[in-house]
Amino acid sequence: MERKSKLTDSPTVQIPSDLLPKDGRFGSGPSKIRPEAISSLVDVSTTYLGTSHRQSTVRDVVGRLRNGLAELFSLPSDYEVVLGNGGATQFWDIATFSLIRRRSQHLSFGEFSSKFASAAALAPHLEDPDIVSSEPGTRPKVKVDDTIDLYALTHNETSTGVMMEIERPLGAESAIVAVDATSGAAGLKVDAAEFDCYYFSPQKCFASEGGLWIALMSPKALRRVEEIKETGRFVPATLDLSIAVENSRLNQTYNTPALATIYLTVNQIEWFLENGGLKFSTGRCSESADILYGWAEGSTYATPFVQNVVDRSLVVGTIDFDPEIDALSVAKTLRANGIVDVEPYRKLGRNQIRVAMFPSIDPSDVYLLTRAIDYVVHAIK
Ligand SMILES: *Cc1c(COP(=O)(O)O)cnc(C)c1O
Repeated sequence: MERKSKLTDSPTVQIPSDLLPKDGRFGSGPSKIRPEAISSLVDVSTTYLGTSHRQSTVRDVVGRLRNGLAELFSLPSDYEVVLGNGGATQFWDIATFSLIRRRSQHLSFGEFSSKFASAAALAPHLEDPDIVSSEPGTRPKVKVDDTIDLYALTHNETSTGVMMEIERPLGAESAIVAVDATSGAAGLKVDAAEFDCYYFSPQKCFASEGGLWIALMSPKALRRVEEIKETGRFVPATLDLSIAVENSRLNQTYNTPALATIYLTVNQIEWFLENGGLKFSTGRCSESADILYGWAEGSTYATPFVQNVVDRSLVVGTIDFDPEIDALSVAKTLRANGIVDVEPYRKLGRNQIRVAMFPSIDPSDVYLLTRAIDYVVHAIK
């Protein structure tokens, strides 16, 4: 207790400058935006920003976003990149109206995956979803069932730092595989043949701003949208995926998007493509993860929260601290030194830190972060 209060009272422990990361942003979203992307945005501040999203200047950038993602994810030619306003959270409601025919199954293993399950459970036009849950820090497995027409998976559960490999469930060929890839897309490997709808917001691995959702959709998912439309179900326009598909084909959104968000997303996609694509972006995350978990495993006071090594996220690391080291106080001291947002996910309630390792974050900065944490912890011993 005494050690704890000593640390709380001295948030001004000064971390030596040679242990400070070049960039102190380690938050899981909004996350670090590369300064080069912002400079590039400034360059178009009078020609692109503040211009009509129905004209070619903006539509060309939306086209680059759609083509760039098709290339990045090696999408088969009949898949489509669809986008709209509202972020991944809005997309759960969209899926509830436009993708789930009658009944969905949700792998629920943290805050984000459980929220989509709740949205489906509340929808009066759907049957009760099948919710397969597991303890925080672990992940459940799909239970194939022929009453299910959509399997809701989460590539990376951002609240706990658990990732899962995306595989089409065997024996569920007629169902849609919908993946919340908000924190996983571009940071984790994926094969487009294994999903029908891979959706995300761009403020995580795509180092942009929030407010937009992007979905990579297979012909099967596109057909499902049409089928549901034909049943005559009432679908509010902003939740109607068929309207978003129509607009996306014209490189537009149904209503006005944030042009800066689109631009920054394109800048990140093109940065990935210029450097080797998904291999480059996922490689940076793996390198950071090796550094973070390697440090925790060798530490006397820190341990990776996720026990099963294959479930340990390569994009969001969660590290438990021994009870005598107060993780929140450590995070507060780091914050006073310009290293921000390593606090744990608020509702998880563990004595831990959470570190984003998205592609924009330099692995060498993750290394310096671990040195800075060691310094803070030892400074108060
Ligand atoms: C951040 C996040 C969301 C929520 O994204 P919004 O853009 O805030 O709607 C959903 N799912 C996962 C896995 C996330 O990491």
